[in-house]
Amino acid sequence: MQLASGLARLGTESAFELLARAKVLEAQGHDIINLGIGQPDFRTPDHIVEAGQQALADGHHGYTPGNGILPLREAVAEDVAKFRAVEINPDQVVIVPGGKVTMWYAILMFGEPGAEIMYPNPGFPIYESVINYSGAKAVPIPLREENQFAFDAEEVLDKVTSATRLVILNSPANPTGGVVPREQFDRLVRGLEAHPEVMVLSDEIYSRLLYEGAEFVSLLEYESLRDRLIILDGWSKTYAMTGWRIGYGVWPEPLVDIVTRLNINSVSCTNAATQFAAIAALSGPQDSVAEMARAFDERRKLIVQETNLIPGFSSILPQGAFYTMPNITGTGLAAKQMETFLLDELGIAAVAGTSFGAYGEGYIRFSYANSSENIQRAMDRIRERAVTENWGKES
Ligand code: PLP
Repeated sequence: MQLASGLARLGTESAFELLARAKVLEAQGHDIINLGIGQPDFRTPDHIVEAGQQALADGHHGYTPGNGILPLREAVAEDVAKFRAVEINPDQVVIVPGGKVTMWYAILMFGEPGAEIMYPNPGFPIYESVINYSGAKAVPIPLREENQFAFDAEEVLDKVTSATRLVILNSPANPTGGVVPREQFDRLVRGLEAHPEVMVLSDEIYSRLLYEGAEFVSLLEYESLRDRLIILDGWSKTYAMTGWRIGYGVWPEPLVDIVTRLNINSVSCTNAATQFAAIAALSGPQDSVAEMARAFDERRKLIVQETNLIPGFSSILPQGAFYTMPNITGTGLAAKQMETFLLDELGIAAVAGTSFGAYGEGYIRFSYANSSENIQRAMDRIRERAVTENWGKES
């Protein structure tokens, strides 16, 4: 058997591996607290589930058009007009089985040997993985704690070369919870006007999870980018629908046929009943979205407050998504060592910062998509052990 050589360059999302290890430990009787996985711990709201069931009862059992059913693409365009205040054509919307698929298509569309693609680091691990797989050079955009984990526009622009094909941005961000301020976006977009051949993929999957006055800026607001901008969003995080597998991309019109073709060549189309459920999500009541964000906000404050009581740990207050990424350099442990220690010694699943790229060294990611009680228990466990481990003491 001779595998294609590109596969050796394909990475993974180690949160899934960690989850599998945590499940094994749980099955052995260990009390595991999961702060590892990036999915809401809420059920999909009932009216959405019912719409999916109704679609099945109504006989929507077959293929749909490769780009998604028109009523759903219209509902997405309406939602974009409402939340991003920008009119788009429903034909620019391509429905795919999960937010990740838009990322996969966009990176493979522009990535090849000789090309460069810029991506946030620490960032969602699949960006770097797929860039490497495509054969393009992965050029990190460092995200630093002192900038509240937002990019520095000048630093990004300095890295643009004649080989740059695509710049990937993500705000609110995984794994840091960082939200990029409008002023940085303004500067970046102004600078990119000098590079009209560079495409931009804006991963806006956490667009509805923002806290306390943090402002959501969609790249769609910038007219000078619109003909070379791909927006990635979906239902997974906003409506607690990670297992339904549905997402969407808003593409520049000339790319829509290619994306649809990629869909037809790989998945044919997205699950039909799920598409009907997704219409109900966008056009139905939004109180569950607000309720979930309120619960996350409470836990966010709790986890940051409790983390900062742990010797050797320090955490800034993130402004979006449902992650914190505390600095653990005061413990003397590297990120991966901390991940192993927390799971094996304390029964806490949390992901090493380095799983999100080299700039994640010295950090660990907590997902606070877990109950306040469990967050409190986890933080108490770590704090008690931190004392006996002498973390936070000068060595
Ligand atoms: N983009 C980011 C930044 C994410 O964190 C995730 C999921 O964790 C995704 C995209 C993918 O979402 P989906 O589950 O809809 O594929």
